[in-house]
Amino acid sequence: MELNQLTAHQLLDKIKDGSITSQAIFDSLYQRVNKIDDKVNAYVRRGNLERTGKESGSKSELLGLPVTIKDNICTEGLNTECCSKILQGFRPPYDATVINNLKRSGAGIFELKANMDEFAFGSSTENSYFGSTHNPWNLDCVPGGSSGGSAAAVAADEAIWALGSDTGGSIRQPASFCGVVGLKPTYGRVSRFGLIAFASSLDQIGPITKDVEDAAILTRIIAGYDPNDSTSVNQSVPDYTKSLTNDIKGLKIAIPKEYFVEGMDPEVKAVVDEAVNKLKGLGAVIKQVTLAHTEYAVPVYYIIATAEASSNLARFDGVQYGYRAKSDNLIEMYKKTRAEGFGEEAKRRIMLGTFALSHGYYDAYYLRALKVRTLIKQDFDKVFSEFDCIVAPTSPSAAFKIGERTSDPLKMYLSDIYTISVNLAGIPAMSIPCGFTKNKLPVGLQIMAGAFNEETIFKVGHTYEQNTDWHKLKPVIRL
Ligand code: GLN
Repeated sequence: MELNQLTAHQLLDKIKDGSITSQAIFDSLYQRVNKIDDKVNAYVRRGNLERTGKESGSKSELLGLPVTIKDNICTEGLNTECCSKILQGFRPPYDATVINNLKRSGAGIFELKANMDEFAFGSSTENSYFGSTHNPWNLDCVPGGSSGGSAAAVAADEAIWALGSDTGGSIRQPASFCGVVGLKPTYGRVSRFGLIAFASSLDQIGPITKDVEDAAILTRIIAGYDPNDSTSVNQSVPDYTKSLTNDIKGLKIAIPKEYFVEGMDPEVKAVVDEAVNKLKGLGAVIKQVTLAHTEYAVPVYYIIATAEASSNLARFDGVQYGYRAKSDNLIEMYKKTRAEGFGEEAKRRIMLGTFALSHGYYDAYYLRALKVRTLIKQDFDKVFSEFDCIVAPTSPSAAFKIGERTSDPLKMYLSDIYTISVNLAGIPAMSIPCGFTKNKLPVGLQIMAGAFNEETIFKVGHTYEQNTDWHKLKPVIRL
């Protein structure tokens, strides 16, 4: 196998025994990007492909190993544009806390940033200013979104591992569509400082990797208290690799009946049912439960997320960051900048969110949504008082065709039906590969646990992985 095809932990072993250098890994990634990324479009602004080589040779834990970063995470001196025209040319003067943590651990930051839906608004990476990313398993299909660039890069071996962000499923759903591992940590586990905000009460940065062990390593490195993020929690970070024990005997797993309903692709259901059987065969105790308020998750999410987004996006006015429209008049300049700088989905969300927060509708929509959010969280609390984790599909379907859902935003919003409750409740969840549809598109299995119980998720995911081969399969990209 080529270096770019290996996992981070395999590469670390090779650097340690002296058989390779981190520079060689960078080189193999650049070769791969040059060869296939015109087709996949996992990375944006590829004109910046000049290598600097400054990362190699670190002596700290990660030994110079490159990490791919989503375009909404601030990297000092490297363009960070959220794949939006309005942030064109924006170079942050500082690193996000997760980037600082990576650098301190000896990681190299890959200079190309990963494609995404503009401001992370989407489920398909079709809302990027730089055009859609293509799913490596079938270039006519979407990679999922909004972290579609990160997931496609990892799946296509254009990245060793990557960071994404997840507000309503944007790490887990693309991980599922691309056949890789993606974790949304507990809200507050990973600092959001330097993550360009979408919906501040839901956003969380997390890893997208080739296997569960890499996810455990990367999560530990990015997690931890940060005084720069008032919602980050001051709780010590465990060594998650200690949870990779390959033993789930007696573990209590809940299956929520609301996640196996009409509208779900029967092929996805069959694959997930088989994965659940596998877990049972490995000694887990499986029982069906109810998460009664699941049907409200999509409407509640789209009220809260758009409300927060409309407020967070108010800062983009052409004065401080990125793109500025030409005008002699200040108010005109604001208006033109926003009209020209934001894409359609961003405008739709600003309008929806502004409406939900407006006088007269605040109580009817926003406040009620917050109350139902609490009920959704209580459903989870109840299940976790009895069970170690919940297992469900990550998405009701496998990857869909590019263009198939763009004209129907509501249909697009329904792609998130199994992922957004987790963000509303603030709990952690991971998607791992668990099989394929007849058309050879990956299916993801979602494992959720109570707040700050990432360890159980890693344990279940790793045990499943040790006893299956799905994560080892690689897409063949037609050139
Ligand atoms: N697809 C969801 C949305 O469009 C979630 C996006 C995300 O998690 N960033 O809002």
